[in-house]
Amino acid sequence: MARIITICNAKGGVGKTTTAINLGAYLAALGKYVLLVDMDSQANATGGLGISIPIDHENIYHAIVNDQNPLSMIKRTTIFGFDVLPATQALAGATVELVSMDEREYRLRKALNSLRTNYDYILIDCPPSLGMLTVNALTAGDNVIIPVQCEYYALEGLGQLLHAIDLIKQSLNPDLQVLGVLLTMYDKRIQLNRHVVNEVTKNFPGRVFDTIISRTIDLAEAPSYGKPIIQFSPSSKAANEYRRLAEEVIKLTL
Ligand code: ATP
Ligand code: MG
Repeated sequence: MARIITICNAKGGVGKTTTAINLGAYLAALGKYVLLVDMDSQANATGGLGISIPIDHENIYHAIVNDQNPLSMIKRTTIFGFDVLPATQALAGATVELVSMDEREYRLRKALNSLRTNYDYILIDCPPSLGMLTVNALTAGDNVIIPVQCEYYALEGLGQLLHAIDLIKQSLNPDLQVLGVLLTMYDKRIQLNRHVVNEVTKNFPGRVFDTIISRTIDLAEAPSYGKPIIQFSPSSKAANEYRRLAEEVIKLTL
């Protein structure tokens, strides 16, 4: 049975998608079967893995809104053992359509149920909001990884996110656990970045991944080539960091 890990932060541009793609790629490289579910209508995870599908082509939208079987929607990536359940911009409409549906918070959980036996890990890439798609992603998850950018407003919105996670635990998904906070886009030359690392570590004792992801041009460039860092620049610092993150995640989820 797959462990479902939701990668979530309502703040935009903190490294959710980059983490979903590269953690997924390294989990697969370490011998795990991995499915990345794109729950963002920006479809950055889909595109960043080199997959391009027409807006109306069947995608996660049809699984959660129309109850279509997601199995036939799954695409292979160029990495063995790493699949993606793609999104298109059509997903933007789902937020509104879900509002009037029965069990609207459980739509993704139900869609993923039949896939759970096919994978070791299912990663869910969330949009930058706490809307219905994110609620679905948190209701479907066993664990949450919260990427936090090493910038001044890093902690902003985290209180709200943790509150939302608590509410979802109380009502929709009692088993949900935060796996860890992942510090991203770290530059050791910048004092503020070092300060944020200390602040976040103080605020989340024992909950911050040992691995910190540095800010590197490789990670910014790789998606435009449709490749995870393991293919784009396998001996880079960023590659090494995401490999270590994957090892940490495996250890924590044994
Ligand atoms: P959104 O909230 O819009 O979905 P996100 O949280 O998924 O954003 P990403 O798309 O992963 O964030 O990252 C935002 C931008 O920063 C992207 O252009 C990405 O390529 C770049 N980026 C992510 N991580 C790093 C890093 N460690 N070093 C340099 N650039 C990075
Ligand atoms: Mg994203």
